[in-house]
Amino acid sequence: MNFIRTLRGDISPTELGFTYSHEHLVCRPPYWVEKGEDDLLLDDPAKTKLEMTDVKQAGVQTIIDATAVDYGRDVEAVATLSEETGIHIVGTAGFNKSFLWKAAIPKHLQGVLGYRGTFEEWIEASEINELTEFVVREVEEGLEGTQFRAGQVKFGTGYNRITPLEEKTIRAVARAHHATKAPVHSHTEVGTMALEQIEILRQEGVPLEFVSFGHMDRNPDSYVHEQVARTGAYLSFDGIGKIKYAPESTRIECILELVKRGYEDHVLVSGDTARKSYYSHYDYGLGLQHIVANWVPRFQEEAERAGFDGERLIRKFFVENPARCFAWKE
Ligand SMILES: [Zn+2]
Repeated sequence: MNFIRTLRGDISPTELGFTYSHEHLVCRPPYWVEKGEDDLLLDDPAKTKLEMTDVKQAGVQTIIDATAVDYGRDVEAVATLSEETGIHIVGTAGFNKSFLWKAAIPKHLQGVLGYRGTFEEWIEASEINELTEFVVREVEEGLEGTQFRAGQVKFGTGYNRITPLEEKTIRAVARAHHATKAPVHSHTEVGTMALEQIEILRQEGVPLEFVSFGHMDRNPDSYVHEQVARTGAYLSFDGIGKIKYAPESTRIECILELVKRGYEDHVLVSGDTARKSYYSHYDYGLGLQHIVANWVPRFQEEAERAGFDGERLIRKFFVENPARCFAWKE
């Protein structure tokens, strides 16, 4: 039986509806707290709630919260927001990239992780199977000791490199996938190293149709995109609105190129809205609603002009593909 695990319980893939596939809602990443980077702290649930209410009214039914243990989650706050807004939220077990592990493990996590020190020291000191057990607990029992369970398992790597500790977490997450059947999500830095991650996942025997690769639009290279898509994996185009990285036309061209090559079933779309200045209610940004309000109509128009059925593609990227990607499959 296929299902999708949300913070408020398991639902049928048909209940998922219009889905943003990679976002951050409430978080205080320890690394950025230490650096004093206030823009990267989403620390006011009341403001996040206003954003979620906006998108709920615009038709968004589900948000995948891609925040792992090393990025300063507030599990209770996010679960409450899901309850209050009626938006399904899928939580994330596992890890982000090693860059963030220089930070000290916050006090409230020391008991859960059974470790004091930095995230890096914890991962270094742990056996792969201990890390696997931690990830499995977050999927089967709850995130950070709460009763809210993760709906996907995640790992990450840095720019053009995979460190030994990152490889350790990839293997731990792969083994947690085998133990739980949870879908797998990957952080790629600037869209690099997806193919190298795939090599490690293959060694661990993870079927690639269980895996989505984040931030693939940061490297707008259709050759690489096709290499990833042909493995059966999903590609997350989750930098919508971030013109500083590439104009919107580039992301849309890359998506349409994948469609032309026959990979429309492998595309996910989201905003990775992880700064106060990206959120409208925190700091006058485009807001969570930018995608549904502005990007969707523009994409449809461009797709139609290129000879595609834009409405059908939008349904694929936001409804049908997430319903397959985030499902526990037998
Ligand atoms: Zn993210």
